[in-house]
Amino acid sequence: MRNPEKNIIYFKLEQSMNRIVELLKDFDVKDDYETLQKYSVDYGIMSKSIESKRKLPSAVVFLKKNDEVERLMEIVREYHVPIVERGKGTNTLGGAIPLKENSVVVDLSRMKGYSTEEDSIVSLPGTEFDEVGIEKFPVLPTSFYMASIGGFVSGGSLGLGSLKNGAIWDNVTWVEVYTPSGRKELKGDEVKAVVQAGGTNGIITKMKLKSVKRGKIRVRRTQFSSLEKAVDYAVNQDGAEFLSIRNKKMMSAMGYQSENWTVIVGEEEGGGEDVVFRDLITNFAGAYYTVVNKMKVSYASLDLPLYKLYELNELKDECMVDAELSKSQGIMFSHTYFLDCNFKLEGYKFDLHSVLINDRAEKDRLSKMIEFKRKYDPEDLMNPGKLMF
Ligand SMILES: Cc1cc2nc3c(=O)[nH]c(=O)nc-3n(C[C@H](O)[C@H](O)[C@H](O)COP(=O)(O)OP(=O)(O)OC[C@H]3O[C@@H](n4cnc5c(N)ncnc54)[C@H](O)[C@@H]3O)c2cc1C
Repeated sequence: MRNPEKNIIYFKLEQSMNRIVELLKDFDVKDDYETLQKYSVDYGIMSKSIESKRKLPSAVVFLKKNDEVERLMEIVREYHVPIVERGKGTNTLGGAIPLKENSVVVDLSRMKGYSTEEDSIVSLPGTEFDEVGIEKFPVLPTSFYMASIGGFVSGGSLGLGSLKNGAIWDNVTWVEVYTPSGRKELKGDEVKAVVQAGGTNGIITKMKLKSVKRGKIRVRRTQFSSLEKAVDYAVNQDGAEFLSIRNKKMMSAMGYQSENWTVIVGEEEGGGEDVVFRDLITNFAGAYYTVVNKMKVSYASLDLPLYKLYELNELKDECMVDAELSKSQGIMFSHTYFLDCNFKLEGYKFDLHSVLINDRAEKDRLSKMIEFKRKYDPEDLMNPGKLMF
């Protein structure tokens, strides 16, 4: 049923939408107003700046098999149809939100299946983490219980396990991707052209990840009166799966009484409380999301080299601070959230209010994405407007 307030806009779009729906008539396709509304948002709408950019798609296509992807890509090529790939739509940076009129959202969450070997997982994009077994993934998003593997490989970054095993791009060893210029297989370092590229370089239809055997995770919270002591303790926690340094204000927002600084360490078989993996969401990366959602406060993030952590002292009474230690391409750093404040601190900005991949990928990976884009999607048909090239 259509929303009467939106009838005028909907009517204007209808003509071009009808043409696209006609082209897609042999697919499992939907174009009713409720579906289009639902597929015009992801969790990125928490940011007003991202929300303001969203457009209603023309149609949503549900794909299950490679031959359907191939047929769709023929239409994309021939009729220059903009595509927005979508797994479960839990991206917080607007990755699955259409920015261009007449886009078609491609739902890949039904393209399921996987196999495991001794040291690897081969998966189709729609498979969920629980289906394979979360203890096998070297890194997984805190949102693992509601996300798809394809969505994490395409749009994710750090998460549970990344302090020990690196980011998602350090753990994908092979991908199959469909671009407007055809099907490609990428291996080794080549995968960095599409991992975290947010679908801007094609539809990922199969991927191989390294796997681990993870035991039970225990979480311990240790209190410190000074930041120096907290940081010194934190950087010596070898083998931790995740680690977060938080100030009193952040702990209080999460419902804990604490000293000035708290270090939360999650470690396999380490001392501390047993924790159901699912509950880690409030203990780790989901923390900023949970607090912002609850308190409706401003938020920003910076990636800081470890020596810069000592500067957080200046913000101790001003901001809620959550510094999550991680590793990417062998280098340890702090993915740091600042809530409810204006701060002047220099670091590498991981922009939580921008839809652009350029505003969060490091230079070397970004140049691989851009090179691939220029070669295989110069018209910017794949998730358009999200990669400046
Ligand atoms: C509470 C909470 C906690 C979170 N914690 C983390 C975290 O720890 N780490 C982290 O990295 N993220 C985190 N996220 C963000 C997000 O949940 C993850 O990145 C998740 O893995 C995305 O999966 P999805 O299936 O929802 O993908 P979607 O949101 O559907 O898609 C993600 C991006 O990939 C593209 N895409 C999806 N599938 C494909 C495909 N097959 N081929 C090409 N492109 C595709 C989309 O266009 C989009 O740009 C969190 C989100 C929430 C709400």
